[in-house]
Amino acid sequence: MSTGSLRKNKIVSLPYTLEKKSLSKKYNNKYVQDQIDKIEKLSGSTISIKNIGKTSSEYKKPCICCKSEFYILITNYISIDSPLTCGTCNKSVPIYKLPKFYDFGYMPILSWETNYQACDSLQMNCEVGERWSLNQMQETKSPLSKQGLDICKQIEEQTTIPTFYYLYNYKKNSGDDKNRLCPNCKKKWTLKTQLHNLYDFKCDNCRIISTISTNT
Ligand SMILES: [Zn+2]
Ligand SMILES: [Zn+2]
Repeated sequence: MSTGSLRKNKIVSLPYTLEKKSLSKKYNNKYVQDQIDKIEKLSGSTISIKNIGKTSSEYKKPCICCKSEFYILITNYISIDSPLTCGTCNKSVPIYKLPKFYDFGYMPILSWETNYQACDSLQMNCEVGERWSLNQMQETKSPLSKQGLDICKQIEEQTTIPTFYYLYNYKKNSGDDKNRLCPNCKKKWTLKTQLHNLYDFKCDNCRIISTISTNT
């Protein structure tokens, strides 16, 4: 996310990053590097990168665990964090630190992330497609969940770290939501204690993690 402006014959862009070194050249994929080369050639000057400070008071440093116990694919309509969090420390995992996902980069992950954020915006705004978008987010068989689960599977294959898909839950359950079974394999998935002040359910078979519904 960034804002750009033209000042004193200079183009300045102010992106948010997860780390001071997020824009380091070593993380550039082929397409980023191609575009940088093109801009530098066309403008006849070089791009310089400077850290100008912290912008968000809620900024949390990203995960620095040596080996995370597991990862979670999760985002929401206003998140500017990585869509991958660490199950051990609950902090963001910069995706540029993962093995290249596909075609020199991470496009499929960013595609799922923006699809999810689009659905979450629709359901937050309530007026257009609320039910449809909610179902995309909370049904394991929806195209959105399938896309996300497939990404989790591939991240796990590449990193050997179990990767869970966060399944949104705003269902109105008749009966006890806490003792509900996994919606996919129908086995017990309630966690003994809540994890990271958020997660109540986790199915190790299906690689799904979720919360108790707030819709009571
Ligand atoms: Zn961590
Ligand atoms: Zn399951």
